[in-house]
Amino acid sequence: MMFADSGSDYASSKYVIHGILFDGTSSFRTGSRWAPEAIRKASHNYEPYDFDYNSDLSEQLVHDMGDSEYGNLNEMVVDLEKTTSRLVDDEKVPVTLGGEHSVTFPCIKALAREMELVAVIFDAHLDFKEEYLGNEFGHASVARNISHLGVPLIQVGIRSGARDEYTHALGTSVIYTMEQVRREGIKEILRDIESSTRGKAIYLSIDMDAIDPSFAPGVGNPEPYGLTPLELRTAIRRLAPYVSGFDLVEITPDYDMGMSAIVGAKLVRDFLFAHSSVVTKATIKEIVQ
Ligand code: MN
Ligand code: MN
Repeated sequence: MMFADSGSDYASSKYVIHGILFDGTSSFRTGSRWAPEAIRKASHNYEPYDFDYNSDLSEQLVHDMGDSEYGNLNEMVVDLEKTTSRLVDDEKVPVTLGGEHSVTFPCIKALAREMELVAVIFDAHLDFKEEYLGNEFGHASVARNISHLGVPLIQVGIRSGARDEYTHALGTSVIYTMEQVRREGIKEILRDIESSTRGKAIYLSIDMDAIDPSFAPGVGNPEPYGLTPLELRTAIRRLAPYVSGFDLVEITPDYDMGMSAIVGAKLVRDFLFAHSSVVTKATIKEIVQ
């Protein structure tokens, strides 16, 4: 099954959806390898038409290239970087569906070779572990590995990490904790991000556990007191015009009644509409303010 309204052929497409069937370093709840299928299924719940953008998804040149399945972490990291590089060479915007958060690293590696990039990650967790269960490139180390590439990092929605992760992260990346989001409001923080990333391309990574588990309980490591889906939509709409690569990771469909995939599919659509329908950057500002 393809993502709904992704009828474009590869050659003429602008966006390429790529599912990654890999959850080999997941620690608490596994099963994110089933997320691409669940997200695609959920995507068929929605009308092709979006009123806010007055646009039809079927007209937005979205191609679904299907899934890649990996038996181990190294294989995934090497192969996904190659595949993503090919998409970037062909001037596509990769829309990667995890799988666990470790898939973000090879995607960013591929894009960072081609352009000056800032990574904006929405996540409950810092993901700054030096290694976790023997894995240096596992999902709990993804932010640390990205920072080692020299790619500037902005993390939003943070509310969990070990003491030494905070120590490391605070010296390396820009962190907007969940407390800060509540205090200042998401729009204020987005204004900040927009001005600090000006002139650079953004890689946008959505770890679904950034969202409060009451809205998206089917994730690998649920963490209460999170973002609402609407706050995340606001963020996606606001940042989409600058984005050159997007992923949505960490949904574990077996742990809920389909809600997380329903929200996830909607966020992917929101990204596609916001990115493709931006006639001018002013248009998107009008919509989100
Ligand atoms: Mn994460
Ligand atoms: Mn997380």
